[in-house]
Amino acid sequence: MKSEKSVNDKELAELVKDNYEWKIVWKNVIIFLYIHLAAIYGFYVLCFRVKFWSIIWTLIFFAAAIIGMTAGAHRLWSHRSFKAKWPMKFILMIFQTIAFQDDIYQWARDHRVHHKFTDTNADPYNVKRGFFFSHIGWLLIRKHPDVMIKGATIDCSDLDRDPIVAFQKKWYMYLMPLCCFVIPTLVPWLAWDESLWYSWHLAVYRYCMSLNSTWTINSIAHMWGMKPYDKSLSSAQNASVSLFTLGEGWHNYHHAFPWDYKAEELGSYGLNLTTAFIDFFASLGLAYDLKTTSDDVIKKRVLRSGDINEYKHHIK
Ligand SMILES: [Zn+2]
Ligand SMILES: [Zn+2]
Repeated sequence: MKSEKSVNDKELAELVKDNYEWKIVWKNVIIFLYIHLAAIYGFYVLCFRVKFWSIIWTLIFFAAAIIGMTAGAHRLWSHRSFKAKWPMKFILMIFQTIAFQDDIYQWARDHRVHHKFTDTNADPYNVKRGFFFSHIGWLLIRKHPDVMIKGATIDCSDLDRDPIVAFQKKWYMYLMPLCCFVIPTLVPWLAWDESLWYSWHLAVYRYCMSLNSTWTINSIAHMWGMKPYDKSLSSAQNASVSLFTLGEGWHNYHHAFPWDYKAEELGSYGLNLTTAFIDFFASLGLAYDLKTTSDDVIKKRVLRSGDINEYKHHIK
């Protein structure tokens, strides 16, 4: 009886494994393999072959893609940490399209699932499944059924009502190739006579860099760093992640206070250019109702769930 049970358990484990864990999406594997190999060549031409303006162009598109994800998909649409008038929303929508990490609706829904079910199977980038899975692996295999089942409980009615989100969702199949690849490749070729071959590889390099930068939030910032605000969370304070993501590495704070538009306590611009970007638009009147967290609430949380020594060290 005992051996029969263990066989059944094994069969069940195999079945579960077959159903989702190792259901590799080969199309994505091949695409991401190409992107990373082409990006290595793109980095080579960036260093040794291309014209000066092509480097500036690549940097601008990199920054735009990151801001589209951090200020747009993340702080505005996923968390509603501030409100924006339509010109700012439109700019952020275009920037987010350059990043090509799914449309805003899908990304924000996945991200809300990540916050609500952090470190469980319903978390799309569950760090408990290892560094590789939380970084890129989650895009290479079928989603765990819990992501769909529990994801369906997430309220996205605000996204449904947002006309700019709806516009992007409707036209994404045309907007995305245009913003992420076609315009970035053609402009250097037409405007300052860059080689089309180099220009394409610069675009792929920039895309690959922006993807990997964003992914470090789900991998590195969920593995290494201090946890002054909530010790029970996997998310941690990681300055190097903040450097690459323009301010999203203060992840222990962010998971403790997800409504805060600064995504950190102090909101210094040095390692949080996203906050500088939002503040600039606020000074123009295009961003408003910026939500923050009071010192009192932060301190109470530190005493309740955080680490006072790490807090003192982090804040000094
Ligand atoms: Zn997180
Ligand atoms: Zn978040």
